[in-house]
Amino acid sequence: MSDMGLVVVGAAGRMGRTLIRAIHDTPGVRLAGAVERRGAGEIGTDAGELAGVGRLGVAISDDPLPVFARADGVLDFTVPAATVEFAGYAAQARIVHVIGTTGCTAEDDARIQTAARHATIVKSGNMSLGVNLLAALVEQAARALAPEDFDIEVLEMHHRHKIDAPSGTALLLGKAAAAGRQIALEEKSVRQRDGVTGPRPQGAIGFATLRGGSVIGEHSVVLAGAGERLVLSHHAEDRSLFASGAIKAALWGRGRKPGLYSMRDVLGF
Ligand code: NAD
Repeated sequence: MSDMGLVVVGAAGRMGRTLIRAIHDTPGVRLAGAVERRGAGEIGTDAGELAGVGRLGVAISDDPLPVFARADGVLDFTVPAATVEFAGYAAQARIVHVIGTTGCTAEDDARIQTAARHATIVKSGNMSLGVNLLAALVEQAARALAPEDFDIEVLEMHHRHKIDAPSGTALLLGKAAAAGRQIALEEKSVRQRDGVTGPRPQGAIGFATLRGGSVIGEHSVVLAGAGERLVLSHHAEDRSLFASGAIKAALWGRGRKPGLYSMRDVLGF
């Protein structure tokens, strides 16, 4: 089979540049296009030069439709409004759409689900092998440890530029804990605490968010009981791990029937 042609949207972003480098270093895939938002200063620049891998002959464009038309898949780490639009274009082009963007609302997710009738979409708050394995372990621990005995808290820290909270990964881990306890996360999650909050509601899944510096992604799920505490953690040391997971998801999705899939489907957990 020929190399899979991938478009990077949000090509000038932190993840966009990392994705361009990862595609360049990965056999079986090639950069078929690079897209940025209209008005971005990088439009027209060579994507390889921007990402630091040398000239690739792919200019950054602000017109996604013709770029999608000549690609097999799209790697998307942008913002929710753009991701929803790209899902529609991926459906028109009937290609693979790998979505790493976080902070999508329920309405955004419904539109992505509609696009998945015609596009093969893999969406995950975290593309790394480690976090997806961690989610499976959290689900198992939450199932084993009763809510009367153990309280669950999800703690995360990210760099100062991150615009959404809690992180997509924290929510993914919270959902895994809720699945283990067979409850709906939305009904049990505590996202903020300030002032006289009263005691902790039994069975709640709490979230705490730290922001600062250049931290790529730190997550811990704490299961706190009387006299003992279990802490399951993941530390991301390099963005390239999300990029290689995204490429793996695209290759997995090639030729697969349209639908909305998760990274756990890709990794088989
Ligand atoms: P960033 O701000 O550095 O990059 C986002 C890029 O998207 C910017 O260059 C921006 O100009 C571009 N963009 C915005 N609107 C656009 C549009 N309409 N068309 C084309 N490009 C557009 O952010 P980042 O740190 O690279 O993170 C991006 C997203 O990926 C965030 O939601 C982040 O939480 C998420 N993320 C997910 C994972 C994962 O494994 N799922 C890992 C890291 C980051």
